[in-house]
Amino acid sequence: MSATPIQAAVLREFGQPLVVERLELDPPKAGEVQVRMAASGVCHSDLHVVEGVHPTSLPVVLGHEGAGVVERLGDGVSGLAPGDHVLLTWLPYCGHCRACTSGWPNRCENTAWYDATLEDGTCRFHQDGAPIHHYNTSSFAERSVVPARTAIRVDRSLPLTELALMGCAVMTGVGAALNTARVRPGDRVAVVGCGGVGLNVVQGARIAGASTIVAVDVIPEKLELARELGATHALDASVGDAAQAVRELVPGGVDHAFEALGRIDTIESAVAMTGRGGQAVLIGMASPDARVALDALTMTLQERCVRGSWYGSCVPLRDIPMLVELYRDGRLRLDPLITTCTLHDVNEAFSRMRSGHTARSVIVY
Ligand code: ZN
Ligand code: ZN
Repeated sequence: MSATPIQAAVLREFGQPLVVERLELDPPKAGEVQVRMAASGVCHSDLHVVEGVHPTSLPVVLGHEGAGVVERLGDGVSGLAPGDHVLLTWLPYCGHCRACTSGWPNRCENTAWYDATLEDGTCRFHQDGAPIHHYNTSSFAERSVVPARTAIRVDRSLPLTELALMGCAVMTGVGAALNTARVRPGDRVAVVGCGGVGLNVVQGARIAGASTIVAVDVIPEKLELARELGATHALDASVGDAAQAVRELVPGGVDHAFEALGRIDTIESAVAMTGRGGQAVLIGMASPDARVALDALTMTLQERCVRGSWYGSCVPLRDIPMLVELYRDGRLRLDPLITTCTLHDVNEAFSRMRSGHTARSVIVY
């Protein structure tokens, strides 16, 4: 099989715009599949790489929230066929380490290779013979090659533009509420930061039956969207101390405070929102040197805790079908989150994200 010419958005230098370039895509090797991308969400984690906050090897094709159609199979791939519609999860797992065999493939110990190459340490993207790196699923490309295990087959009748969001924002947000925090009926919840992920925490908390869901943000449109998706209260954090305001709304504090921004001040604020036995769940991607202050004695006396949530503690083959069913029966809403654009608009999508006025830009191919 020969290489396929494709267009992809390439990052060549941190802090610079992506450039849509012509690349060659090698065919999939053993255990891999080639996917023609139908849609890709633009996530804050991509922006973190562009800005150099979370650097990776350059040049690189970013994008990790994709859905598309299987075109080619590498050797040994079973359970998928050309023409299948697939949702791409961005975190592969080995299936045999201690974490994987304990039911936590999101904590897999053997995926360190996966932020810049495929599993064999090489790249399928090239330009004039020079390798171009992968970033998870590299969905800012018309076609990509991914580990077969990360491509989850979905019903062909469902719209791939909406399903793409399940690859990151929805799984991360809904998963944080259902899997990591295990929100229960009647629980009181606060969600700090109502972007693509936070809005899906709101949905997850509603689906779990939370009685109170306080959405916290500084952008009125996002707070409005949070209400539409299930928040019982919307709190504009620009007007004062958000933790104090939450504690006024929920006397005693909340059972779960989710932080979806990765900022020191908002993490400390989320911890301060929790009540006795409550937990602050950190979802946002902090910078590697971020350190937060904890009121240690209160943590002990009130049995409060802080925990991380990585990719919604997901088990992809269990959770993606669950999300699809929630979407099908209308409990999970994706359409209100989406602003569509083309691959050439990717830099504008980042600008909209920086200004905070879009829940999710989705590139449609
Ligand atoms: Zn993401
Ligand atoms: Zn593993």
